[in-house]
Amino acid sequence: MRRPRGPLAGTLVAAVLLTGCALGSVERPGEKAAERVGSHGSADERGVGAQPYRRWGLEAPLPPAPKPAARPPATRTAGPALPPVVRHIRTPDKVVFLTYDDGAEKDPRFVDMVRELRLPVSMFLTDSVVGPGYGHFARLRSVGASIQNHTLDHPALRGLPYAGQRAEICGQQNKLKSRFGVRPRLFRPPYGTYDTTTLRAAADCGISAVVLWRASMEDTGLTFTQGGSRLRAGDIVSVTSGEATGLTLVERTARLLREVRGKGLTVGRLEDYL
Ligand SMILES: [Zn+2]
Repeated sequence: MRRPRGPLAGTLVAAVLLTGCALGSVERPGEKAAERVGSHGSADERGVGAQPYRRWGLEAPLPPAPKPAARPPATRTAGPALPPVVRHIRTPDKVVFLTYDDGAEKDPRFVDMVRELRLPVSMFLTDSVVGPGYGHFARLRSVGASIQNHTLDHPALRGLPYAGQRAEICGQQNKLKSRFGVRPRLFRPPYGTYDTTTLRAAADCGISAVVLWRASMEDTGLTFTQGGSRLRAGDIVSVTSGEATGLTLVERTARLLREVRGKGLTVGRLEDYL
């Protein structure tokens, strides 16, 4: 993915990046998600009782994530300097990072998947999308997911005044702190669009890194924004919600995990590297 370089480039990038956010497509009501889960067949057909990795469509378990080196605190705290914008982590570890945006899809099977496969996923939540559904994300958090900031109302921040950007970011920091007891350190701007004002507002709200993505898991498979078209160690992957005719998050995640496993990679915890 490219960083916006001007008004026109920003528009183009915004259009390209739209796919990274579920709000760029169709938001699926919870009922439909439940119907789709029900269409996956009976418990026996899904292999309940088998090894967890088989139950989720993997031929072999994912390797355990390596312990990352201790991070130097001086470079990891939000201070006067602007937070870094990252879409790929430079690391010798054979890990990729799974990120999910908005919080529209609240499929209980996804909680089971995260728990059984011990997936350290990162959820970037928008308050107006999650709505009354924070309980689902509390359950996800209790099984190992981390909760991060994706604004209150999902506007395209680029070009907005400081006060408005700050209200979107700090407002969601406060919401998430009151819901979960911790303030997120990571922030993803909606549609991946941002400007220097965004970075300044994010820093002032206590954000230590702005997280974009290099790869996106779509219905058609993985797409890449820059730097080659194959999954590699350190990639941050955005797993988007399916459109009306698309796959559920569980299905997309399972498909992605097969690719991850096939490349000899595993899933790392993004927060351990930022
Ligand atoms: Zn989004």
